[in-house]
Amino acid sequence: MEELNPFKITQQQLKKAADIMNLDKEAYEILSEPMRTLTVSIPIKMRDGKTKVFKGFRVHYNTARGPAKGGIRFHPEETIDTVKALSAWMTWKSALANIPYGGGKGGVICNPKELNDTELENLCRGYIRAIGDFIGPKVDIPAPDVYTTPQEMAWMMDEYSNLVGHNEFGAITGKPLEVGGSEGRFDSTAMGGMYVLREAAKLKKINLKKARIAIQGFGNAGNFAFDLSKKLFGSNIVAISDSSGAVYSEKGLDYQKLKKAKEETGSIDGCKGVEKLTNEELLELDVDVLIPAAIENQITEKNADKINTKILLELANGPVTPGADDILFNKGIFDLPDFLVNSGGVIVSYFEWVQNIQSFYWTQEDVYKRLDSIITTSFKDVIKTQMEYKSNNKKISPRMAAYIIAIKRVADTMKVRGWY
Ligand code: NAD
Repeated sequence: MEELNPFKITQQQLKKAADIMNLDKEAYEILSEPMRTLTVSIPIKMRDGKTKVFKGFRVHYNTARGPAKGGIRFHPEETIDTVKALSAWMTWKSALANIPYGGGKGGVICNPKELNDTELENLCRGYIRAIGDFIGPKVDIPAPDVYTTPQEMAWMMDEYSNLVGHNEFGAITGKPLEVGGSEGRFDSTAMGGMYVLREAAKLKKINLKKARIAIQGFGNAGNFAFDLSKKLFGSNIVAISDSSGAVYSEKGLDYQKLKKAKEETGSIDGCKGVEKLTNEELLELDVDVLIPAAIENQITEKNADKINTKILLELANGPVTPGADDILFNKGIFDLPDFLVNSGGVIVSYFEWVQNIQSFYWTQEDVYKRLDSIITTSFKDVIKTQMEYKSNNKKISPRMAAYIIAIKRVADTMKVRGWY
């Protein structure tokens, strides 16, 4: 059986890259574990007058290149291993984008759907009080992740400002515009993915105007990916799904109709005049571009052989397991890794932090232009590294190339700082 513990997966990936690039043993040892992990208990008065204690985590995986950076998840099945894995991926993501951050992540074990607004606000404030000494604009800058939104970030920033005694907008990113949020943050992840797709299609000589695209997930990432690939390239989105299943139309799906169905019935399943598919069938469609934008471990060694796309654009975190990696690579699928494709979110978070520190705010156009420049450079770095290894008779996947770049940047910084 394939190992699906997220932290073990990150360690396998690090080991694989370290072997290929002959990483120094000391650097490998430092990078195999987080630098710091914090576990906290958060007592919250609930609506029935009783106190409930929630468990939370914050991890700094590596801070050689700058403050830790990473989101906060509120999830009933949150574990320290998930947080550790995500903090490692944040380290590689920031390093690949070449922005001055390390990697961090946080989480609270809770079901936000069972909390009312007051309990949720108190949990956000309690979590920040508990981790207050561990974060800050020069130390560790949290942001939203699964089940946390700009509203939660506003409460958290407010509580951190209370702790330090002055407004500290740069302590948290992903905030609403009213409290120092950035223009362009809401669709930054999908927009970054689109810039990568544009470059990938150019390289593979695929005309995106004629391309057939399938997307798994109709949430923040998937829904904007649908809208933007149509608006920017005129592509034909033939299939999309959510947790209730997938819809398909050979002529192409209508974005407004899907949105309406989602609003009215809570799911795209209610959309009329389309064929129904399962999520498994969507993944196996014969398309030009497949965009997993839902949850992790969707393409595994069980179904990798049936994937039938030219470009696989990993907008979700961890949609492809290590076991599936080699199968996809050997099939010639151009699989672009998550920590390149979805780095638009952290890149625009970085812009938000820069704007907060300078108290000087940019237009949406400025944000998209700078995002394009950074993510396109990352894509080109990945292809260049792949080519360099190829010329030395080593065939590596774009994911391995991305790991090698990121790990080398972190290791070089640690070396020059005298950490090993
Ligand atoms: P979301 O909660 O807004 O949307 C998730 C979507 O996936 C929903 O439409 C849900 O119905 C669907 N889904 C859930 N289980 C499914 C299943 N088994 N099969 C098919 N669809 C399923 O989340 P999001 O913010 O869009 O994030 C999606 C992925 O993108 C996650 O892996 C997340 O970590 C990653 N990501 C998101 C951002 C961001 O800015 N939103 C940034 C970086 C990475």
